[in-house]
Amino acid sequence: MESFDIAVIGAGMAGASIAACLAPDRHVILLEREDRPGYHSTGRSAALWVPKYGPPLVRTLTRASKPFFEAPGDGFGPVPLLTPRGGLVLAREDQRPALAALIGESGGALRPVGASGARAAVPLLRPDYAADAAFDPEVADIDVAALHQGFLRRLRAHGGALRTRAEVRGLYPAGGGWRIETEAGPVAADIVVNAGGAWADRVADLAGAVPLGLVPKRRTAIILDPPPGVDPAPWPVVDDVGEAFYLKPDAGRLLASPADATPSPPCDTAPDELDVAICVDRIERAFDLGVRHIGHRWAGLRSFLPDGLPVAGFDPAVPGFFWLAGQGGYGIQMAPALARAAAALLLGRPLPDDLAAAGVTAAALSPGRLAVPA
Ligand SMILES: Cc1cc2nc3c(=O)[nH]c(=O)nc-3n(C[C@H](O)[C@H](O)[C@H](O)COP(=O)(O)OP(=O)(O)OC[C@H]3O[C@@H](n4cnc5c(N)ncnc54)[C@H](O)[C@@H]3O)c2cc1C
Repeated sequence: MESFDIAVIGAGMAGASIAACLAPDRHVILLEREDRPGYHSTGRSAALWVPKYGPPLVRTLTRASKPFFEAPGDGFGPVPLLTPRGGLVLAREDQRPALAALIGESGGALRPVGASGARAAVPLLRPDYAADAAFDPEVADIDVAALHQGFLRRLRAHGGALRTRAEVRGLYPAGGGWRIETEAGPVAADIVVNAGGAWADRVADLAGAVPLGLVPKRRTAIILDPPPGVDPAPWPVVDDVGEAFYLKPDAGRLLASPADATPSPPCDTAPDELDVAICVDRIERAFDLGVRHIGHRWAGLRSFLPDGLPVAGFDPAVPGFFWLAGQGGYGIQMAPALARAAAALLLGRPLPDDLAAAGVTAAALSPGRLAVPA
């Protein structure tokens, strides 16, 4: 049986990023159930970097990831991982107070541009829809495939292994570490990392750890054609201040989402026809975009812990079982910093200076914070 220092379960963005961070110091194997890494949430995201999105810890990790996105180093190609996009937040007449509050909270980072400014940026915006708008110049597109593949290349460059079609079906304490039964045969490792995305609580179950109450939530996306002769490439991503939809340029076409968040069991999720219809309705109310044809549609799971924050840390009761889960709707944009923090915690090292200085603590990331009192 092959033996490793660390076995990471799940080859999405979480698993790939922590495996790449650990590989220079430890012998690492990445175990993935599907026949290709990135098949689930990681391959289904909207690929946005929005530093003002999410709770404060998420925002901190997102900002702390920026230097990596700008200069990722070995294993990453010459293509930029971040491309400026900009974000427009719209408010209907009844949503003006919500937009004003958001602008106030942003401490000047969100610029009021008014309805006319919004229409200048996105000419398809219906004049009778938005009463007000603000612009966030920091929003960027992420090249998710380049980021994910770069982490996997770095893992391999340091002698790490990726095994696909290797669903983990059993985790058994053995010799101070783990015997891991997979679809592709058993392996042994001292430490197991649970980066199972929507399945993280199921993976915990296999190890005899208490699940943390992770709730996967389905989100739908559809691809639409712009009207003939309209090139949406320079448009910002357009968001509704009430988070009822967003629309962003995507390779000459438009990606739209009703920003749904429907609780779901972990699964290979697919869009619900009602969510697609709701999406088209909301988009048509806001934009002059008679939708005649939907190019492509998909859904993915965004998995949330009860407090909305990610976990990175050893299980309080099961030795050698390390959690990296609960990335919600931010698992791409904060991946580089979260993986650095997780790798340091796993190796028993202090958190990297920049993260500690920004206020990230082991306690805030610890799964122990979610423990149900006995
Ligand atoms: C529509 C949509 C839009 C989004 N937009 C954004 C965005 O703009 N920006 C952003 O930052 N985030 C976004 N997200 C969130 C982001 O996609 C996720 O947070 C991120 O992909 C989570 O990565 P992960 O590796 O934890 O999960 P996953 O990518 O799902 O990977 C988990 C992997 O674990 C594997 N696995 C599970 N159990 C086992 C087992 N027993 N054995 C072996 N393998 C196993 C699964 O097969 C899977 O491949 C979006 C998500 C959706 C659905």
